[in-house]
Amino acid sequence: MTVVAEQSVSARVREFLAGTKLLYIDGEFVDASSGRTFVTYDPATGERLTDVAHGEAADIDRAVRAARRAFDEGPWASMKPNERERLIWRVGDLLTERAAEFGQLEALDNGKSAAIASAVDTAWAADVFRYYAGWATKIEGSTVNVSMPFAPGGQFHAYTLREPIGVCGLIVPWNFPLLMASWKLAPALAAGNTVILKPAEQTPLTALLLAEIFEEAGFPPGVVNVVPGFGDAGAALSAHDDVDKIAFTGSTEVGKKIVDAAKGNLKKVTLELGGKSPNIVFADADFDVAVQGSLNAWLFNHGQCCVAGTRLYVENSIFERFTEAVAEAASRVKIGPGLDPTTELGPLVSQEQLDRVTGYLRDGLADGARALTGGKRWGETGYFVEPTVLVDVEPEFSVVREEIFGPVVAAMPFDADDGIVTAANDSIYGLAAGIWTRDISKAHRTARLLKAGSVWINQYNGFDTAMPFGGYKQSGWGRELGAAAIDLYTQTKAVNVAL
Ligand code: NAP
Ligand code: MG
Repeated sequence: MTVVAEQSVSARVREFLAGTKLLYIDGEFVDASSGRTFVTYDPATGERLTDVAHGEAADIDRAVRAARRAFDEGPWASMKPNERERLIWRVGDLLTERAAEFGQLEALDNGKSAAIASAVDTAWAADVFRYYAGWATKIEGSTVNVSMPFAPGGQFHAYTLREPIGVCGLIVPWNFPLLMASWKLAPALAAGNTVILKPAEQTPLTALLLAEIFEEAGFPPGVVNVVPGFGDAGAALSAHDDVDKIAFTGSTEVGKKIVDAAKGNLKKVTLELGGKSPNIVFADADFDVAVQGSLNAWLFNHGQCCVAGTRLYVENSIFERFTEAVAEAASRVKIGPGLDPTTELGPLVSQEQLDRVTGYLRDGLADGARALTGGKRWGETGYFVEPTVLVDVEPEFSVVREEIFGPVVAAMPFDADDGIVTAANDSIYGLAAGIWTRDISKAHRTARLLKAGSVWINQYNGFDTAMPFGGYKQSGWGRELGAAAIDLYTQTKAVNVAL
């Protein structure tokens, strides 16, 4: 545990890492049924951080039974909305109080900068809990002015109720472990559901620290359960007959498996999947702002973002100057462990991701791409990759078509009358897109033509808790965040009364 020893990690984080981390089921921290554990590693060094109880199908079953009981028998279901509101708000407050601790733990487990994990991931997660705390008291049905053509002369009072779906399985990835969990937990709980959270095997720790916060906030047992494990635990949750809904963020490949697994009881499924997002820079853009913004588009979180703007389309007249400026800025980015406060780019999450990303780089270069900067692994230890700007790429190269999930961008020139939108939309994905121009009508015109769930104009990664987020095409089903997420976790009952 060299990194933990060398760097400044708070006493609370050290204490948290000291023992085996247990599953959180029915309000108690418990061993896995099998007694097995797995190791979670520090991606900056590849060394062991701590052991985690290894949840499998039997543990998922225990957690589902607890969540079922909490939903069907209460006290959760009978709790007043404003009581749920106060509990969820408290989670936001506790996250804010402990943001430094969450940031350090996320940096150790995931590799990202502790400063960013605290100021962005944790601060935003707290905001998400507060935003949906407010929603708990604002979920409304409507009265419907029915005509009832088959009952002439009758009088009716018809209305709708918005009710929770029931037991929800939440399966999240490793790129924003705490944040992706909060996007699902907060609206699911505000709507009155009970949940089982399955964090990614690479990054289970902040989910377990969050379980302590749910405990401290005073949630009734069984309302929130956290079961770390591998893909088989996620598969067991997706197939479980007593689970009413799965909300998943991760790869498109696993998303399709979840759809198959959910068929048994036709549970509801929402999916937030991969992307290969276009970022379009017109010649009339503010050059310096667009360079910085485009760098952020593909490099934020080391490129491990589903929305990463990794197809950079630049208008021909500025292509060379622009890509060189992006490459120059990328070459100056400070690489290091997430716990070093000067670090701008940390390691990828795992050996598997390092192999995957360097594999794409090898293939791209072999296909004929040229790296303006980067192109390979950085250093000998840890899972670091140099920020890489590829040019001389063709639309059929794997580095242009496939989600790499690392600090790699493929830049391509276009002519103003080229039909850039056709190129931008030429992808199985449709998650996000960026547009850089000073021409306001061109910006809005282009935004309407892009097949993407989020379009950012003269900025990138412009998220807000109140804005819906999700994918067109194979980037997913449904919209998270904002009022849209309440739809994901409620169902409508129509009630019609003869007066
Ligand atoms: P993944 O397998 O899709 O992992 C996401 C979550 O699904 C994890 O909790 C995972 O558990 C779980 N899972 C795995 N197999 C499952 C199954 N059959 N049924 C239910 N749940 C299952 O993603 P990955 O393998 O970690 O990453 C592979 C690639 O996916 C990345 O390179 C990237 O391209 C993409 N990805 C996209 C996002 C995104 O935000 N859209 C996030 C992460 C990765 P385990 O962790 O135990 O496998
Ligand atoms: Mg996986």
